[in-house]
Amino acid sequence: MASLRVLSRRYFTVNVKNKAISGVTLTLLQEEGFSRTFNINHQKVCARPQKLRFFHSCCADRGLFGGGGGSSQQQTLEDIAKGIRDREYKRIVVMAGAGISTPSGIPDFRSPGSGLYDNLQQYNLPYAEAIFEINYFHHNPKPFFALAKELYPGNYQPNLTHYFIRLLHDKGQLLRMYTQNIDGLERMAGIPPKMLVEAHGTFATATCTVCRRDYKGEELRNDIMAGTVPNCPHCKGVIKPDIVFFGEELPQHFFLYLTDFPIADLVIVMGTSLEVEPFASLAGAVRGSVSRLLINRDLVGPFAWGSPRHNDVAELGDVVSGVRRLAEALGWMPELEALMSADAKKASEMREE
Ligand SMILES: [Zn+2]
Repeated sequence: MASLRVLSRRYFTVNVKNKAISGVTLTLLQEEGFSRTFNINHQKVCARPQKLRFFHSCCADRGLFGGGGGSSQQQTLEDIAKGIRDREYKRIVVMAGAGISTPSGIPDFRSPGSGLYDNLQQYNLPYAEAIFEINYFHHNPKPFFALAKELYPGNYQPNLTHYFIRLLHDKGQLLRMYTQNIDGLERMAGIPPKMLVEAHGTFATATCTVCRRDYKGEELRNDIMAGTVPNCPHCKGVIKPDIVFFGEELPQHFFLYLTDFPIADLVIVMGTSLEVEPFASLAGAVRGSVSRLLINRDLVGPFAWGSPRHNDVAELGDVVSGVRRLAEALGWMPELEALMSADAKKASEMREE
C-alpha cells in the first residue's frame, strides 16, 4: 500500500571505546521523491539486554552479515523441520502475505469479478486503489467503510497457516511475524500483537482524523456493521481504523523491527509475491548463513532472482498444503489440530451467546 522503496542499504561496523558497533543504514524512498534515512544500529538493540548478548556473539563469530555457511549440501524441508524440532532455530521470522488469507475466504478486493470488488462499484470509485487513498477518504469515506464491514474481525476464521505460526510462538521460537494482511486473522489465531508487525496496519485500533484521539477498533464495530461512518464524540471528525493508506507512513515500529532480521536464524516466507517494498529487500537482506524457507505458489523475490543458496528451501504449490507438510515433518499435526478445534469450539460458543 504505502509505497516505500529501499534506495540503499549500507552495513557498517565502527569502533567506539574499543567496542565494535554494527548496524545497517537504510535510505528509504517514499512517494513524491521524499526520502528518509534510518540507522538501525547497535544502540537500539542495546536497549534490550537479551538481544545484546546474541548480537555480540553474532558479531564475534561470523560478522553481522557474513557470507554463507560452510556446507554446500542442498537443504530440504525435512532439514528445516529437524532444525525447528531440535530448537536449533529459536528466532524465526515469518513474512506473510495475502496467500495465507485466501484459504480463509478473504476476498481479493483488487480483482474484477470478485464479489467485493463488484460491490464497491456502486460507490463510483474512480479506480479500485482509491479506496486506500487518504485524499479520497477525506472526500468520501463510505467505500472504505464498506470494505471495513466486510473485513471486520469476526467474519472470517484463521486457517492452519495462522495456527502454525501461533504454535511457533507457543513454543518460544517465533521472533516476529511480518504480515501484509489487514484482516486481523493473526490476532484471532492468538498471536500476541507484540509479536506482529502489521505492515499495512490494523482494524484493531483507530484514530480520529481531526483531533487524533485513539480508539479501540471494537468501539467502531456498531457503526461499521450498521453501515454508518464512525464519528469522534469529542470533535465529530471521522474516525479511521489504523490501516496504512497510500500516502501515509508505515507504522513506526516497522523500522525498529528491522533489527529482527540481523538476529533471525530462520526466515519463513509464505503466501506473498514479495513485490511490495520493503518486504522484498528484507528477505534478501538476511545473512547468507541463515536458512530461508519459501512456502508459496510460485518462486518469488530473492528465491527467484537471487543467486541460489544451499540453505534456501522452496515448497511450491498450495500454501496450506505446504504448511501442513512442514507440520507433519515436525510431528506437530496433533497439537495443531487440538489448537484449531479448541478455538473453533470457543468461536461457536461465542456465536451462540
Ligand atoms: Zn476527534
